[in-house]
Amino acid sequence: MKRGSSHNLRMYLCYAIVISLHLCTWGTLRSQPNISNIEEMQSKAVDSVKSIRMAEMTWPDIKSAIEQGYTAVVVAVGSTEQHGPHLPTMTDTRIGDDLAHRVAMKLGHTLQAITITVGCSKHHLSFPGTISLRDETLRMIILDYIESLIRNGFNRIVFLPMHGGNFPIVQATLKEAQIAHQGIEIIGVTDITKLLVCMNAASAEFGINANESGAHAGESETSIMMALEKNLVIKDRFAPGYVGLTGEKELKIIFEQGMPALTKNGVLGDPRKASADKGEVYLDRLTEFLIQEIKKQSHQNQR
Ligand SMILES: [Zn+2]
Repeated sequence: MKRGSSHNLRMYLCYAIVISLHLCTWGTLRSQPNISNIEEMQSKAVDSVKSIRMAEMTWPDIKSAIEQGYTAVVVAVGSTEQHGPHLPTMTDTRIGDDLAHRVAMKLGHTLQAITITVGCSKHHLSFPGTISLRDETLRMIILDYIESLIRNGFNRIVFLPMHGGNFPIVQATLKEAQIAHQGIEIIGVTDITKLLVCMNAASAEFGINANESGAHAGESETSIMMALEKNLVIKDRFAPGYVGLTGEKELKIIFEQGMPALTKNGVLGDPRKASADKGEVYLDRLTEFLIQEIKKQSHQNQR
């Protein structure tokens, strides 16, 4: 997540398990189920939905959940990019994944699809560990998610971008998908300005200004990661990065020259006032904000 003071431009800031073909083929051949086995497996599918994370579920359980009315699905769109010397590169992905889970739980009758873990992070590439997709790659991933989830039987698909650099492409791609898949509700909380207003309001309650709270790896993101992954936050490396105004001029510098032109340690903000307690509050507020935005969009679609 990114934040700063110039909302229009701030929006531009912010997998693979390798199994050998041999083992995979061998396993498939050994366990090839016949039709009666499939029927048996289906009959054993759980009656109640115990998990909503599809990545942790089996296909019979996912099928059973959809049949029980879990026809909505939430997907977070994260990033893999540097987050200063004190936060891990999975920060946006971890936060997005947690928020998507909270949102799905609160919405009810909603499953969570596996989070998109890499996003558009070109301006962070000079910091090791950053992996960036081209806009077109992210567009195609989102379209393929939508095609797959529709085939699965979902009729309401919600995307939650959690990294500033992903917002414009997620927004444009969902518009395209909405036209292509009439009758399927495709929703995205893609207004980063509103999300930042929500974050700013929470920071202000703690007496923390927007520049400290920060556009990238500042107080707010650090607080959330302390709440979620305290063992991955390196407190003795907390140091301010760029703490001035992040306006048009600064964003032009970042996008034309990359983050190091403005911040040597990769931080926009100051993590020194971060705490896990504040992180919990940010998570609650963000969850509530996302729920309200999803409901608003859903309401508009029904009109
Ligand atoms: Zn971030």
